[in-house]
Amino acid sequence: MFERLAVLGSALRESRSMFRERAALERHQTRLAGQQLPWVVAHSAYTAERFRQAGLAAAEWRALPSIGKREMMANFGALNTVGLSLDQVLRVARRAEDSRDFSPMLPTPSGEITVGLSSGTSGSQGAFLVSRAERLAWAGVMLRQLLPGWPAGLLRPQRVAFVLRAEGQLYRSVSSARIHFQFLDLLRPVDELAAELSRADPTLLIGPPSVLRALLRAGARARPQRVVSVAEVLEDDDRAALESGFGPVAEVYQATEGLLALPCPHGHLHLNEAHVHFDFEPLGGGYVRPVLTDLRRRAQPMIRHRLDDLLVLAQEPCPCGLAARRIERIAGRQDDALSLPAAGKRLTVWPDFVRAALGRVPFLREYRAEQVGERHLSLQLDPDLPAVREAAGREVQAALNRLGAEAVVLSFGPLPAAPPGAKRRRVAQRWKPPAD
Ligand SMILES: [Zn+2]
Repeated sequence: MFERLAVLGSALRESRSMFRERAALERHQTRLAGQQLPWVVAHSAYTAERFRQAGLAAAEWRALPSIGKREMMANFGALNTVGLSLDQVLRVARRAEDSRDFSPMLPTPSGEITVGLSSGTSGSQGAFLVSRAERLAWAGVMLRQLLPGWPAGLLRPQRVAFVLRAEGQLYRSVSSARIHFQFLDLLRPVDELAAELSRADPTLLIGPPSVLRALLRAGARARPQRVVSVAEVLEDDDRAALESGFGPVAEVYQATEGLLALPCPHGHLHLNEAHVHFDFEPLGGGYVRPVLTDLRRRAQPMIRHRLDDLLVLAQEPCPCGLAARRIERIAGRQDDALSLPAAGKRLTVWPDFVRAALGRVPFLREYRAEQVGERHLSLQLDPDLPAVREAAGREVQAALNRLGAEAVVLSFGPLPAAPPGAKRRRVAQRWKPPAD
């Protein structure tokens, strides 16, 4: 009962956080930062040390040098404010993943902490901590932002289906008589999942786009009022397939680092600036890398924390009138950018560029493009047919030519089945350029 009220309270407060004036939003951020930063500096030894080394006071946080996941993990115990060591957290989280029992909670003097691991891809798995209060606040924001027809939608029975891995506990927070949550474990066989999804007949369906598409292909039938894409980049072909198969699609940009952006009624992705402060490091060509400062999370503070994601920000304001900036597209992870030879230099090719080229190949259902050598790309295709190979090779070479890259060597093969629960990455970098 208490949990439900807390979630509802957070959802109602969220209505007041949807600022329409930029100046009001920035005042709100400054007010939150004025409470958050001194608290974090007083309770997180590692954060205090960062400020000390930079010779900055808490109020000068915008100038603090950013850190990434590597520094966060290397200083895990001194960074978090609930006294948990990395060993303790990894033990509990891995046991939960193995047993498929997703209620990995650790009691601490500050209350129960939910632990999670990010689906680390390049040997850099992250560990994340969320307190009970943070979990409930998060659920309220999701409810407010995603429930179809808020607030009247609260009065109608809602069936929410989550197709996700290892996140059940977070979502169960909002279960009540009117809102029924079903957690579909995406590690189960796809036919079984498809049948279960059809039976659940959700009004709101949430999951990674690659999995939702696989469920469609396996015969899942549902007409939700809204489909919410999470955990992976939503591409145009995903959106089209899910809209024709299920219904209207919205995208949430959520990482283990936080809830980063949410869709507006116009279907655009707005940064979650009422809760998280964003700075952006320009990387050329219109791409930016976010550096976030979470203005509320305290169990594991995120202060000037750099993400590996590449974004393109929208330049035009959104017709919805929200003051929060919006993301034009999530281009991929910087780690996945290709590095190809071009006139004696190396050229960085961002993942979305390769995806756009392969998106033009007729009949190509799914693929994986990996750089496996200095000038060598491997294309794994589904279906792996001669005409598809030919078109894929042509599109990739033509796109790279336009960028000024030299010709690359392409090898082709069939796309192997993805390991269960794996996050889809269509473009990946397997070759590491020599350090220059
Ligand atoms: Zn908008």
